[in-house]
Amino acid sequence: MQEPMRLSSRWVVWLCLSLMLWTAVAESTHNHPNKTESASCSICVVAHSTAPVASSNQVRPVFASIGLLQEEEVIAKARLSVFELGIRGPPAV
Ligand SMILES: [Zn+2]
Repeated sequence: MQEPMRLSSRWVVWLCLSLMLWTAVAESTHNHPNKTESASCSICVVAHSTAPVASSNQVRPVFASIGLLQEEEVIAKARLSVFELGIRGPPAV
């Protein structure tokens, strides 16, 4: 069962959501009277810049053997104690 949100938490959530909405509206609809102001506005600079091109300077991978796998047989040593012989198995159907 979920505990209902407190009234203060609910108000904080609505405040944050409304601030985010108003910020998005203000950023998308703002304008400047002249071009010098828009050149110094960070929102306009980002909006009118070209998309960054991804570049990478990866070197080619080097494949070299570092050793051989030496397999070794492992044999488990089973022991049966007298107590285990006395346990009854599951019933046969
Ligand atoms: Zn701007």
